[in-house]
Amino acid sequence: MMVINFHEHPRDGVGEQNARLGIDRMVLLGARDTNDLVCDMAEQEPARYIPFYRADVNDIPKSCDELRRYATERGARGVKFQPLSQYCFPNDRKLYPFYEMCQKLGLIMLFHAGVVAFPDHRVRFGNPVFVDDVAWDFPDLKIVIAHLGGNYSFEALVICSNHPNVFMDTAYLHFFCDRSLPRVEPIDVIKRAVEFSGAEKVLFGSERVEPRLIIESDLPPEAKELILCGNARRLLDEL
Ligand SMILES: [Zn+2]
Repeated sequence: MMVINFHEHPRDGVGEQNARLGIDRMVLLGARDTNDLVCDMAEQEPARYIPFYRADVNDIPKSCDELRRYATERGARGVKFQPLSQYCFPNDRKLYPFYEMCQKLGLIMLFHAGVVAFPDHRVRFGNPVFVDDVAWDFPDLKIVIAHLGGNYSFEALVICSNHPNVFMDTAYLHFFCDRSLPRVEPIDVIKRAVEFSGAEKVLFGSERVEPRLIIESDLPPEAKELILCGNARRLLDEL
C-alpha cells in the first residue's frame, strides 16, 4: 500500500528518513523562507513531494498574488497556517479574500492546532474552534486541522464531524499524549477520531508518528487504507 505523510517539513534527508519508515510521498509545509525550497524539491521529485505554501498574513493582497503564482507556476497544492506564530485567528476577516482564492483554486488549507512549546508562540491562537467559522463561510474550502487538534482534540472532532470538508492529521501526537493526564497513547487518540469523525476524516501525518502504529493497530483494513493513503489522494484530487 502506498503511504502518504500529510504533515512534514523540509529538512536534510527528509525523503530518505520517510522512505525508511515506509512512506512514499509527503506534504512539505513551507515557511516564509522555504516556500521556494519546497517547490524546488517537488519539481525535482514530483512523485515524492507535495509542496504547501506559507503566506504572509500581514499583507493579504500581496499574499493572494504570490499564492496564485505558487499554485499555478510552482505546483503548490495547499497552504500551511500557523496561528500561534502568525498571531492571527483563523477566522480573522482580513484572511477571507485569501480563503476565497484557495477555495477557487482548490487549494488545501492546513491549520496548526494545539499548544506547543516554541518560544515565540502565543497560546491563545492554538484553539481550532476558530476554524469552524472558516468551514461555515467557505463550505467548498478543503481544510485540515493538524495534530488531531492537539490538546483541543475534542473541538477538532466536533468540527470535523460537522463539516464534510474538514479533515485532521495525526502528526506530533506524542507531544500532546505525553502531557495529558491521564496519559493517553497516540493510537488511542487516532482510534477515537476514527470512531467519532470517521476514518475518511483522518490523514496520516508523521513527526514521530510512524505508519506502523496504524498498520499494526486493530483498526479495520479499510480504515488503515483511508488514513495512510486514500484520504490524502482524494483531497489531492487523485481519486
Ligand atoms: Zn509540523
